[in-house]
Amino acid sequence: MRSGKKRQHHNHHNRFHTVSHYAFFRGSPRWPASKFSLTYAFLPGTRGDAINPVAQAFQTWAPNTQFQFTESQDYRNADIKISFKSGDHGAGALSTAVVESWLMLQLLLESQIIQIILLSLLSHNYSVLAHSHAEKKSSPFKFIEHLKGCHKGDKIKGIHELKKYMEKFGYLNYDNYKNQSTHANDDDFDELLESAIKTYQLNYHLKSTGVLDANTVAKMTIPRCGVADIVNGTTRMRSGKKRQQHNHHFRTVSHYSFFPRSPKWPASKFSLTYAFRPGTRSDAITPVARAFQTWAANTQFKFSKIEDFANADIKISFESGDHGDGNPFDGRGGPEGIIAHAFAPTNGRFHYDADEPWAVGAVQGAFDLETVALHEIGHLLGLHHSSVEGAIMYPSISAGVTKGLHGDDIQGIRDLYNV
Ligand SMILES: [Zn+2]
Ligand SMILES: [Zn+2]
Repeated sequence: MRSGKKRQHHNHHNRFHTVSHYAFFRGSPRWPASKFSLTYAFLPGTRGDAINPVAQAFQTWAPNTQFQFTESQDYRNADIKISFKSGDHGAGALSTAVVESWLMLQLLLESQIIQIILLSLLSHNYSVLAHSHAEKKSSPFKFIEHLKGCHKGDKIKGIHELKKYMEKFGYLNYDNYKNQSTHANDDDFDELLESAIKTYQLNYHLKSTGVLDANTVAKMTIPRCGVADIVNGTTRMRSGKKRQQHNHHFRTVSHYSFFPRSPKWPASKFSLTYAFRPGTRSDAITPVARAFQTWAANTQFKFSKIEDFANADIKISFESGDHGDGNPFDGRGGPEGIIAHAFAPTNGRFHYDADEPWAVGAVQGAFDLETVALHEIGHLLGLHHSSVEGAIMYPSISAGVTKGLHGDDIQGIRDLYNV
């Protein structure tokens, strides 16, 4: 790279000079003059969300060069071949002598820097391999993806991690079966795991087969709240047992739920104070305040912000990893996909996972502070998870998505407080 040895260009027309820092591959390999029109193709099966960003990257290069780029479906014969690979994938490790040197274009895809690396291989062909270092490092749920399709009777490496995931969110509790020979720490897809998956599928409106099918994996790989869906085996999200309400004009099916024994704030305590731990990132203040206002508008509660963190009813902070409340966070894109959690009344603690990417509003690759606050405040007030996908109390939320309160949430809070 050029930053050491500066190359100066004098521009006669514009009367300024620029300092360049670009570099070439060793031997300055380049496309022959006859080859100004290049085709590119994705390895069949490449993730669909890569197509547009890569096309945009080519479109950006095209007007600034003599090149024209056309997408082709013929991967084998394309000039430029793009694929997602992990680990050693047979092109020779990038650091070995096979690779002369490399040039990178960077583009942003779902907040992750995808590096399109133009490799000059020692072979006669040029090729492009796409490497997502960020994705490799923080690829959450890899163990789940790898288990797609597995079912009772299977013994596959990684099933014990699936068991941990199911235990974490309340679907599996081997401690209840201490007297039997159990498979808590092995890779046996046993009957308990099958039944746990069936319950999960019911809660998430999936076909309850007990098989870890593609739809189930898709749900499990969405980032989520750290509060378990089932607490002490006694609560569950509502999709299994539907609760029907008759309304004057129509009837609705509710799916909200409460914590075990339905803890709530006493009637005398309708005015709650909240405080941020001193030093909390300032961009969280306004979105969290808006979330409180939204709940206030739909409940009997009033919320006011105070500075006295120790004595506030609701305490908000960003925490990292194991932070002393028995519910450690799992880091950015961690294996459990947890991004925040909060406690049932009247505990008042609300923690964001400091290691996740946070933003205000719908920002690609980041979680919306306000949307997550709406969900966690629901817990602080006594709501548990709902299996209504549109409800704020639905357990999972994707990056780049915003949500508001849903009729199911409002019905739930009114039912809990009898208002
Ligand atoms: Zn939650
Ligand atoms: Zn916590």
